[in-house]
Amino acid sequence: MEETIKTFEELPLSPEMKRAVREMGFTEMTEVQAKAIMPGLEGRDIIGKAPTGTGKTCAFGIPIIERLEEDKKPQAVILAPTRELAIQITEELERLAAYKEDVRIVCVYGGQNIQKQIDSLKKGAQIVVATPGRLLDHTQRRTIDLSAVRTVVLDEADEMLDMGFYKDVRRILDSLKNKKQVWMFSATTSREVMDIGWLYQRDAVEITVLPVEKSMPKIEQFSVSTTGRNKLADLTQIIVSKGYKRVMVFCNTKFTTSMLCDQLCQHNFSADCLHGDMTQKERNKIMQDFRAGKFSILVATDVAARGIDISDIEVVVNYDVPESNEYYLHRIGRTGRAKRSGVSYLLVTPEEELRVRGLVRFTKSEMTPLKFDANRQLTVDKDKSYGGGVELIKTLM
Ligand code: ADP
Ligand code: MG
Repeated sequence: MEETIKTFEELPLSPEMKRAVREMGFTEMTEVQAKAIMPGLEGRDIIGKAPTGTGKTCAFGIPIIERLEEDKKPQAVILAPTRELAIQITEELERLAAYKEDVRIVCVYGGQNIQKQIDSLKKGAQIVVATPGRLLDHTQRRTIDLSAVRTVVLDEADEMLDMGFYKDVRRILDSLKNKKQVWMFSATTSREVMDIGWLYQRDAVEITVLPVEKSMPKIEQFSVSTTGRNKLADLTQIIVSKGYKRVMVFCNTKFTTSMLCDQLCQHNFSADCLHGDMTQKERNKIMQDFRAGKFSILVATDVAARGIDISDIEVVVNYDVPESNEYYLHRIGRTGRAKRSGVSYLLVTPEEELRVRGLVRFTKSEMTPLKFDANRQLTVDKDKSYGGGVELIKTLM
């Protein structure tokens, strides 16, 4: 591949696609796009590992749309782990296909009225974006004809296979007899991702985008010492003292998520929440309202927020220390989207100190420890340091 191609203009794309990309405001490709679009156009298999926010959707979306043939039957299937992500992918693809005539993209996911989706599928669609369970539902009902599908994309493959979709994904891949390309994109490579690659890909182009400064947006990371009983007050103090207007707060459980949201509302903050127990309609509405700026604090669980891309989030607050290091990276990746800068806070209780030490070391984060002083102002906690974890242990030995 020509390493020298850096802009969308230089790619062998249709005028309609170039126009759409221009109007989305993109000139330079991101690294994953520069590495994936050409092989994608050439019909190669692709396995791509790239951090969140590096533009993976366009990396697969552009070649898919460019390679569509006139057939009205679905030619490409994109599988995503959650409904929110499926909707977001659909929206991005629709923007990319804005100037192409007769490109129909249908999004099918669990939780939405199936008849509605059946009606929509009947009108014909060349691209289907789906969550695995619901797509299988449609194939079993024979309300979808996937016989002409040539390209399959597994987006956020690690997460999808992790969430118990492994069997569903394999059944879908097995049923697509005429597929020619399998593309897998994820932030990490797990055993399951490797397995699927081994089973369904041939001579795949391997793409790795490292989370280095150039592609990682600049996110200033802070920890804040707190205690279980002070957490709510400390959170609101952070928001009020800095005047944050676009905030995402992460909790580990649905219970904490909805409780915290209620508490914030009781304290007259404009907040809403997103978690797995809500109906799809409710979740869509909340995402829409948050995008439109109708409220300023979105409280969410990790799964509900997976892959969600809102470009103007100023700050991410980890109300709970996340259960995994990967989750931490995904959470803070919600801010600083598309190379803007962002800020994140991690609330840490004394019991969690050790866990946070490990997290900082694993993620190679530069974390500045803060505490509240007697006047409730955030100040640097000079007695604490997470950054030098490894060195510290060496010195102690
Ligand atoms: P990922 O799937 O890797 O997490 P997305 O595809 O959601 O990333 O893209 C993240 C953000 O970057 C989106 O807002 C998208 O519109 C924007 N984006 C994608 N490609 C470019 C580009 N070449 N230049 C500028 N912004 C881009
Ligand atoms: Mg994505």
